[in-house]
Amino acid sequence: MNNKDPANHNKAILVVAHPDDEALWFSSIIDSISKLIICYGDIYGEYEISKRRAYAVSDLPLSGVINLAIPEAGVFTHANWSQPTITEAGIAITDDKASVRYETNFRRLCVSLPGLLEGADIVYTHNPWGEYGHPEHVQVHNAIRTLQCRMGYSMAFSNYISTTSVSLARMVASQYPWDKTQQVMTNRLLAKRLRRIYLAHGVWTWHRAYWFPSHETMYTIHPGGKHEHDSLTGTEVWPVERLCIPCLSAMVKLCMDTRLLARKI
Ligand SMILES: [Zn+2]
Repeated sequence: MNNKDPANHNKAILVVAHPDDEALWFSSIIDSISKLIICYGDIYGEYEISKRRAYAVSDLPLSGVINLAIPEAGVFTHANWSQPTITEAGIAITDDKASVRYETNFRRLCVSLPGLLEGADIVYTHNPWGEYGHPEHVQVHNAIRTLQCRMGYSMAFSNYISTTSVSLARMVASQYPWDKTQQVMTNRLLAKRLRRIYLAHGVWTWHRAYWFPSHETMYTIHPGGKHEHDSLTGTEVWPVERLCIPCLSAMVKLCMDTRLLARKI
């Protein structure tokens, strides 16, 4: 795939949950999209950090950024990842009040996103298990998947995973249709530039020692009921922990090709 060819990304839109997700999970496609939609803004109960996060978003050297700034639901520590339950809004939340906020946010996404996704050929977003395991990543995926039925765009997601999200991934994978997969070179220069901006504002949410992989793998689902594959089971996933440990990162830097770290789901 030529990720510089606009013909491949005509009306491509990226929808992420949080500021910095675009750098972490989508640098391979970020410079060929027409629009970046960031769904959540204020961190629950964290007023000062939330202000800094908003400043960081306004400093991003990207065009077409739309910051929905929906307040986070405060659900990160309130999901049972070892025995997850899938819901319409994402994953079951174990705290009652947080669960109400989470479900409210799902409805907000389903109201706010359609007008912004009008005319999209393809929408990139989080994978069904939320990469390393974040309930709001799962929620954004579910919103994009729900809206795909009536809006008719293709959607695509990557294969990052962690030991936290693997149970949900295995549960989802066995019944998840998809059509094609492509490996795309990451844009490490841009990803590191974005990381520096978030770090300067003190709002980078991921490991500082994270080594951006050489490639990202995107799974695409076309609209409609018929698909090339009916399960993701047996496909390759990339455990993010392997990119976070400094000593392993050194090994990765030597081989320069993180596709060697892939495992099967
Ligand atoms: Zn996130």
